[in-house]
Amino acid sequence: MAAYEYETHEYDVVVVGAGGAGLRATLGMAEQGLRTACVTKVFPTRSHTVAAQGGIAASLGNMGPDNWQWHMYDTVKGSDWLGDTDAMEYLAREAPKAVYELEHYGVPFSRTEEGKIYQRPFGGHTTEFGEGPPVQRTCAAADRTGHAILHTLYGQSLKQKAEFYIEYFAIDLIMSDDGACTGVVCWKLDDGTMHVFNAKMVVLATGGYGRAYFSATSAHTCTGDGGGMVARAGLPLQDMEFVQFHPTGIYGSGCLITEGARGEGGYLTNSEGERFMERYAPQYKDLAPRDYVSRSMTMEIREGRGVGEHGDHIHLNLSHLPPEALQLRLPGISESARIFAGVDVTKEPIPVLPTVHYNMGGIPTNYWGEVVNPTKDDPNAIVPGLMAVGEAGCASVHGANRLGSNSLIDLVVFGRAAAIRAGKVVDPDTAVPATNLAQVDKAFARFDGLRHADGAIPTAELRLEMQKTMQEDAAVFRTSKTLAEGVEKMTAIAGKMGDLKVTDRTLVWNSDLMETLELTNLMPNALATIHGAEARKESRGAHAHEDFTSRDDENWRVHSVARVEDTEVALSYRPVVEDPLTDEKSGGISLKKIAPKERTF
Ligand SMILES: Cc1cc2nc3c(=O)[nH]c(=O)nc-3n(C[C@H](O)[C@H](O)[C@H](O)COP(=O)(O)OP(=O)(O)OC[C@H]3O[C@@H](n4cnc5c(N)ncnc54)[C@H](O)[C@@H]3O)c2cc1C
Repeated sequence: MAAYEYETHEYDVVVVGAGGAGLRATLGMAEQGLRTACVTKVFPTRSHTVAAQGGIAASLGNMGPDNWQWHMYDTVKGSDWLGDTDAMEYLAREAPKAVYELEHYGVPFSRTEEGKIYQRPFGGHTTEFGEGPPVQRTCAAADRTGHAILHTLYGQSLKQKAEFYIEYFAIDLIMSDDGACTGVVCWKLDDGTMHVFNAKMVVLATGGYGRAYFSATSAHTCTGDGGGMVARAGLPLQDMEFVQFHPTGIYGSGCLITEGARGEGGYLTNSEGERFMERYAPQYKDLAPRDYVSRSMTMEIREGRGVGEHGDHIHLNLSHLPPEALQLRLPGISESARIFAGVDVTKEPIPVLPTVHYNMGGIPTNYWGEVVNPTKDDPNAIVPGLMAVGEAGCASVHGANRLGSNSLIDLVVFGRAAAIRAGKVVDPDTAVPATNLAQVDKAFARFDGLRHADGAIPTAELRLEMQKTMQEDAAVFRTSKTLAEGVEKMTAIAGKMGDLKVTDRTLVWNSDLMETLELTNLMPNALATIHGAEARKESRGAHAHEDFTSRDDENWRVHSVARVEDTEVALSYRPVVEDPLTDEKSGGISLKKIAPKERTF
C-alpha cells in the first residue's frame, strides 16, 4: 500500500510538457484519435518556448534562393560533425512542411510585401554549402515567434480534444519489470493530490536544464526534470558536455537579446570601438555561429578589450539601424534593453555577455523521438513506451553546437515525428498497461523523504553552490585543471543532497518542496555535464578545451553516454550516425559534401 492515496488515469499517450515540443506532439497524437493527456507544471503558454524571439529555420526560399540541402549542410557543419546525419536530414527536409503547417494552424508570421512569410538571416545559415553569402532562412513573427507558436498550438490541441493537466508536477517514470515505460507519477500543485497516469506511450518534453548554471537566459522552470527522471530509471543521458552560451545575454540579468538583432544588422564592438568579429570570422563576421562568437567575445575580454568599468563585457550596437525597423522587427528587444540594461537602443549600445542558453545534450533518441538505451550489442536499442522530444531530447540534430532558430524547428519537426511514429506503434484498441505498484511506492517514498528532509542545508543554498560551480568550471573556456576541479567540487556538492532541509511540509503550493524536487533533477544533469566535459579530450563546437584545442575525429566523433547514480557517473560512447537517409541520386546530399572538414567562417 502506497503511503499516499492517488487517482489513476488511463490514456493511450501521456505527454509531459506543454512547450513547443510537447504541444506539437500532443496535437499530432490527438489529431490521430489517440486518447492524449498533456501534463505540465506551468500553464502551457508560460513554458519557456514563449520567450523564443528570433524565429524558426526552414528553407522556404521566400527572400532569395534556398533549399533543404543547404540547410542540412549548415546544420551538419554547425554541429561540428557530432550530429546524427539521418536526423539532421529529416529536420532540414521536413522543416518547410512543418512551418507551412504552423501557418495553416494560425501562427501570425510577419510578412513580406507580397504576403509571403518573412525570413531573416541568422548565424551559421548560408548558401551554396557554406560557400555562398548568408541566407534569409529564419521565419519570424516579429521578435515574438515562440509566443505566437505556443498560443496557436495550445488552441489547436484544445480543438482536437487533448486533455490538459495543468500545474501537475511529474515526479518519476513508472517502468515495467521488463524495462518498458508504462506511465508517470504526478503531484497536483494546487490541491496536493497525487495522480498516477498509465499510458501506452509516455513522451518527455520537459525542456532544458539551463538553471544548472548561475547565469542563464532560460526560465527558472528549466530544471531538466525529464533528464532527472530518466537517470533515476537507470537510463542514460547523451552529449551533456555541450552547453551553448548565447553571445548576447544582457550583462547582469542574463536576459536574452535575440541573434535576430545581429540578423537585422546589429554588430559587436570592444573597448576600442572595433568590430572585432571581422578579425575572427572574416566571411560571416557577427553572423558566425554562437560558439564561435561567444569564444571570440571571451577572447576580447581576456585580452583586456572588454567594455565597462571592469572591462568585463562587450557592446552590441543597434543605434545605426532606422528606428522604424527596430520598432517593426525588434520591438521586444528595445523593451528588454530599456528594462534590464536601462539603455535606449536607438542611441546607445547594449552591454552583453555570453550566457548559458541551450543544452545540446539530453535524452538520446532516434529521429522518431523513441528513447534509445544503448547496449553492448545494439547501440540503437529502443526503450518501449518512452519518447523524448524538444530540448529535453537529443536526436541528435544539434551535435556539439546548435544553430540559432534550429531549436524551434526541432520542436515542431520532432514533435510531429513522434506523433507519426506513435500512430504506428500505439494501438488504441489494446488495454492500457496496469500500474506497477512497486514503482509507484518507490516514487512516493522518494517524494516523502524530500518532503520531510530535515538536514542542515536549505535547497536554495545547495542549488546556488551547484550553479556557481558549473558557471566557473564548465563555462565557455575549459581546461583540464578547471574541469578536474569541477568534477571534484560537483561530486562533493551532489554528496550533500542527503543533508537537505525542507521547511514547508504541506502539500498545497509548496514551492520549497517543488524546488527541491527540481534540484534532484538538476543535479544528475549537472554531474553528467561536468563529467562528460572532463573526459572529452578535444575541442568541438561548444566544448572548447584549452589543453586540447583541435577537433579529434579519429577518437572523439562519438556521442558520450552518461549513466548517473547518486554522485557517480559512468561514461561510455556510441557511434555518430554518418549516413544520410537519401543519397545524391535521389535528390539527397552527397556524403562527400558533408564529410568532416575544418570549421571556419
Ligand atoms: C530566451 C530564449 C530565446 C530563445 N529563442 C529561440 C529562437 O528564437 N529560435 C529557436 O529556434 N530557439 C530559441 N530558443 C531555444 C528554444 O526556445 C528552446 O530550446 C525551446 O523552446 C524548448 O522547448 P521545449 O518544448 O523543449 O521545452 P519548454 O518550452 O522549456 O517547455 C517545457 C515544458 O515541460 C514542462 N515540465 C517540465 N518539467 C516538468 C515536470 N516535472 N512535470 C510536468 N511538467 C514539466 C513545463 O511545464 C513546460 O510546459 C530560445 C530559448 C530561450 C531561453
